[in-house]
Amino acid sequence: MPIDLGLIAAIHVDRARHGDLATPSRRADEVFQVSTIAALLEGRYDGDLSIGELLGYGDLGLGTLDGLDGEMLIVDGVAWQGTMDGSLRRIGAEERTPFAVIVPFVAEREAPLPVPANEALALDPLQRAIDRLIPDPTRIWAIRIEAEVRSITVRSVPRQVPPYPPLVAVTAQEALFALPAGRMTIVGFRFPDALGGIGVPGYHLHAADAARAQGGHVLAVELVAGTIALDPADTLHLELPAGVGDAIAAATAEEQARIAAAEVRIPGR
Ligand SMILES: [Zn+2]
Repeated sequence: MPIDLGLIAAIHVDRARHGDLATPSRRADEVFQVSTIAALLEGRYDGDLSIGELLGYGDLGLGTLDGLDGEMLIVDGVAWQGTMDGSLRRIGAEERTPFAVIVPFVAEREAPLPVPANEALALDPLQRAIDRLIPDPTRIWAIRIEAEVRSITVRSVPRQVPPYPPLVAVTAQEALFALPAGRMTIVGFRFPDALGGIGVPGYHLHAADAARAQGGHVLAVELVAGTIALDPADTLHLELPAGVGDAIAAATAEEQARIAAAEVRIPGR
């Protein structure tokens, strides 16, 4: 069934074309997004907004680069690319993104990680723990976790050339990395199910180590200590590259299942 934006009561979705954008407002309760996950699924990987422009809308986020070139992570106002060897590269202001989500992060809720005694907190229990901290699952929640990890598996994806294959074909070429134990920053979003097709329903998390030397898209993690900070948003500003607008209304339940398969697959499942 196509997504009915009229059913999304809690989120105000603003759509604009590149060039129609107003000056970045950086209101604390606004999320800014370039394109949609449905468009990315279809293989729309041409970079649109520059990273310099993107950083005008916030300081924490994630996405990818022109040609689906790796996993982008934005933390403390700096954009990093998770590359195909697991290392992070600082992204230049002139580089472009075909898909990104960013927010001026203000921690409105903070909590220690609920790590069971003598155990570690894995990804599923982490997500359930965040679910319990969130009073309103119909909003978008930005997430920042500072944690000591015992283990973490991240992935990246290789740069594509036109004609672009669909996202599921690219994630089949993903490279996986088990990063060393240590301090990590994990950033990302929890999107409500009602915004499937626009964003990844549920959790989408990218990680960087403390030295900002290694990182990528989080597939599995074991956290031993740390804190969760959360920031809710009730407005989503969508910057839609030419030809992408129709993809919002066209996202189906089947497409959402493919998004889940491409974006939140956990090794071994
Ligand atoms: Zn990702």
